[in-house]
Amino acid sequence: MSAGAAMREDRSAACRDAPGALILTEPVRVAQLWRDGVAQLRAAGIEHAQREVTWLLEEALGVSRLAIHADGIESVGGHAAEQARRLFARRAQHEPVQYLLGTQEFCGLTFEVTPAVLIPRPETELLVEEALRVCGSQPSARVVDVCTGSGCIAVAIARARHDAMLWATDLSQQAVYVARRNVSRNRVEARVTVFQGDLLAPLASAGLAGSVDVLVSNPPYIAAWEWPTMPPDVAEFEPRLALDGGPDGLRAHRQIADLAPRWLRPGGWLILEIGQKQSVPLAEYIQASGAYGDVQVRQDFRGIDRVVSAQRKG
Ligand code: GLN
Repeated sequence: MSAGAAMREDRSAACRDAPGALILTEPVRVAQLWRDGVAQLRAAGIEHAQREVTWLLEEALGVSRLAIHADGIESVGGHAAEQARRLFARRAQHEPVQYLLGTQEFCGLTFEVTPAVLIPRPETELLVEEALRVCGSQPSARVVDVCTGSGCIAVAIARARHDAMLWATDLSQQAVYVARRNVSRNRVEARVTVFQGDLLAPLASAGLAGSVDVLVSNPPYIAAWEWPTMPPDVAEFEPRLALDGGPDGLRAHRQIADLAPRWLRPGGWLILEIGQKQSVPLAEYIQASGAYGDVQVRQDFRGIDRVVSAQRKG
């Protein structure tokens, strides 16, 4: 959109807001808007203020920064400027930038995110890698993703393995809607089914008992002691249901490890994401259950134990 078009659109919006009165808003310089936004975010302690203000400006103005430069857009109408300022103010309150923009990239794919789902994290790509590794060259692998949230893990696996079949579950109906939209958006609806329900309960209707090759999950794992250390961006805005893992953060992991043997085929894999200080207690729990063989732990790119994998005996 050109600057002129942006201003015309802005004027008509002003007219709509106040019928009968022609309100011509003052144009605002883009450079000034950007500088003010960066100052506001910096004052709020936002680390990547410049980058984020650029993204929020693109969102509010409906144009890419390339277009702003290429078309020489120097100023925008007051309505567009107001939109941008509203986004800056929300970010300054620590609302995650992904919720303001509505998307997050994961495994090279784009996912819709809303406050009903956890924002996909780069370290969770390790779960996808691990699932693909244990699938090996097995044809038509059956994969289950429990607590799917945005659906990012299931969709990324489906996109990487064109013959894999996936079933994903989430307790939150709102999350299920987001996950289904992400399945369609990434064009894997023929092979990914999303169910609403608690952990593995929805699988009963899919007739998968004893036949699942890989059961992967990034369940809630924030422990009670961690809450005071959580940044406000996470603790105040991301869904508690997707984060709160009970007293030691492993409540859901233990339930999943207990339930999974019924669904996994002999030799099938359980792959779980974990948080701080959780690899030893979870590995011990899984080992003690007697249903799995060796338990393996993998570290993320920061050297933190992040993924626990266990192979069902048989
Ligand atoms: N990785 C998230 C965080 O530390 C937590 C994700 C989860 O609980 N599954 O913010």
